[in-house]
Amino acid sequence: MAQEDVFKKVVSHCKEYGFVFPSSDIYDGLGAVYDYGQNGVEMKNNIKQYWWQSMVLMHENIVGIDSAIFMHPTIWKASGHVDAFNDPLIDNRDSKKRYRADVLIEEQIAKYEEKVEKEVAKARKRFGDAFDEQKYRETSPKVAEDLAKRDALHERYSKAMNAMDLDELRQIILDEEIVCPISGTRNWTEVRQFNLMFKTEMGSTADGASTIYLRPETAQGIFVNYLNVQKTGRMKIPFGIAQIGKAFRNEIVARQFIFRMREFEQMEMQFFIKPGTELDWFQTWKKTRMAWHQNLGFGAENYRFHDHEKLAHYANAATDIEFKMPFGFKEVEGIHSRTNFDLSQHEKFSGKSIKYFDPELNESYTPYVIETSIGVDRMFLSVMCHSYQEEQLENGETRVVLKLPAAIAPVKLAVMPLTKKDGLPEKAREIIDELKFHFNCQYDEKDSIGKRYRRQDAIGTPYCVTVDHQSLEDNTVTIRFRDTMEQERVNISDLLGIIEDKVSITSLLKKLK
Ligand code: ATP
Repeated sequence: MAQEDVFKKVVSHCKEYGFVFPSSDIYDGLGAVYDYGQNGVEMKNNIKQYWWQSMVLMHENIVGIDSAIFMHPTIWKASGHVDAFNDPLIDNRDSKKRYRADVLIEEQIAKYEEKVEKEVAKARKRFGDAFDEQKYRETSPKVAEDLAKRDALHERYSKAMNAMDLDELRQIILDEEIVCPISGTRNWTEVRQFNLMFKTEMGSTADGASTIYLRPETAQGIFVNYLNVQKTGRMKIPFGIAQIGKAFRNEIVARQFIFRMREFEQMEMQFFIKPGTELDWFQTWKKTRMAWHQNLGFGAENYRFHDHEKLAHYANAATDIEFKMPFGFKEVEGIHSRTNFDLSQHEKFSGKSIKYFDPELNESYTPYVIETSIGVDRMFLSVMCHSYQEEQLENGETRVVLKLPAAIAPVKLAVMPLTKKDGLPEKAREIIDELKFHFNCQYDEKDSIGKRYRRQDAIGTPYCVTVDHQSLEDNTVTIRFRDTMEQERVNISDLLGIIEDKVSITSLLKKLK
């Protein structure tokens, strides 16, 4: 199946099976805002738990907080968001569509890379077994030409972005002959800066309302609570503060479903360290976070690091963890070495000292920070895209199955009486009444067993149990495994032991060790 088709199918599957709905659906939706349905919310909570527990439970020196979305407006002045949280935007005069200038250019860079990959694939086909890929990449003039074009463009683009030279960004778009995908023309406006923060007002206008912002990241809530937590928790450096919460960005181009939303959720951890140790800690957190992702079992080849060349003015190292989505490798998480920029800025703007007294060194300093920042929704999307599968069965039918990691699946067990009579429903309820304290169970008695299995496959339920007449006699049931579709007769009293461990977040965490 073409990757574009996979993505379309994932989007409609999410809606059809109660994972993700467009916000305000009966009013035809609201741009780039989504709601999570009955299955989506369970899966999202599991993802959040996996992250939270891996941070807060697994590290003695990491604690959590939950700060407010509304914050003092000066915080956003201090953090640089009021002046610099901008995207360069450009409009196409014919289609009236708006784009991010940086994204248009990055897509062009990716096109050169795709061309190279196509050349290599063509050559592989032509030469068959005798194909020496490395040699071909090094010697093919066509490949060399595309790589040279890519590198030149990359260099020019990096320079323009570092200098935020808007005229140069526009010139690149013209020189590269980038066209609007809708109108197909090159009738571009100037490039302008656009601030991504949403504003609102607090208090009534009569007594002087002040403009406040919906937070565009959760991190600042951690920075401004640094002292509170350090003092009350008697935390010693190195230590971390973790937080999960909503963030808001007025994204210019909000496409690709829940990949880029205007209201989304972040899981961020700020790790406070001694100045000078940041590059070592940066490496440690890169490794730790990559291991967390790969622990889900989606295959190491689907992840890569993308180191930043344009570093934000406060950062001295930054990388993204990218996941192979159906629309290419895309950022899911950022890991940034933010120096002492944020804490120093808050010291300056608040006039309060945010220094740490290091008892070992017998001196005070403003801590440095390594940040790990991951979007819950992007993580959700990556899990969905990877797990969605269409399988051809031996009987010629196709089954749609979400091969979710069991610990992330919204429903862990479906219990199904073979028929709606003869005491089978009651027996099924008995099983659920016992197991529902341990994990999420669903009762299902409607339609044929085959149809019920399909329904559970489509939401990724790892186990189904069928209660039949024999169950009444000997307290055994058939357990069916989602991935293999194999069935086994087991004692009802063994179900908890078979299932609990495999569907728990604990099992995932133990594998991390
Ligand atoms: P991008 O370059 O894609 O706009 P970013 O580099 O601005 O992302 P960060 O500011 O580093 O993103 O935010 C950290 C994480 O928050 C991202 O890795 C992503 O998972 C998530 N995130 C950021 N913006 C959005 C959004 N608009 N919708 C959903 N998730 C987002």
